[in-house]
Amino acid sequence: MELTPAIVKEFARQMSEHFDTTIMDKEDAIEMTVLSYALDFMKITDRDKFMNHQALSMGTRLYFPFTPGELSPDRSLLAQVALITHEHVHVCQHRSNPGVYDIMYLADSAYRANKEAKGYSANIEIYLWMTGQHHAIESYGKILADSYHVDSQDVVVFQKTLELLTHSIKLGASVTKPARVAKRILRRLGVTPHGG
Ligand SMILES: [Zn+2]
Repeated sequence: MELTPAIVKEFARQMSEHFDTTIMDKEDAIEMTVLSYALDFMKITDRDKFMNHQALSMGTRLYFPFTPGELSPDRSLLAQVALITHEHVHVCQHRSNPGVYDIMYLADSAYRANKEAKGYSANIEIYLWMTGQHHAIESYGKILADSYHVDSQDVVVFQKTLELLTHSIKLGASVTKPARVAKRILRRLGVTPHGG
């Protein structure tokens, strides 16, 4: 079975339940204030662009630029599944090192690049599982440089790390727990992976 809005909605619910996260409403005013601090920290100045196109995790609270399962012109259902999985990688990173992760992620370009390599490996793992293909590693590097305020030398390390992780995924490894759980949930919801 292919992805449907109902499946993606239920996928988001089950991921959130499994990892004990909350998918937030971006319209929430207090949350927005907290978010704007984070954006300032990351020196992301185009707040509208950020609010409309990027996802973010704050601890176990997740913000998406879409409602899971709702069709949108610039975000396919597959892209939604990948991004939901990606943000849950950050939740696991936060949980494994609370406090340190949250500050370092915002304050340090190299740290952010390292954590995003794992995050984007989840996107690649989902895309490979569903379609047998993934976006070019360089395109993720460009996202990092453009939207995450990551220094150019850190982007190089990011791309190299993501390349190695992708190699492992192609050999059959699950690189992150959220990717592994995501595939299990999708299977249970009747989604057929690429090649059966
Ligand atoms: Zn990320």
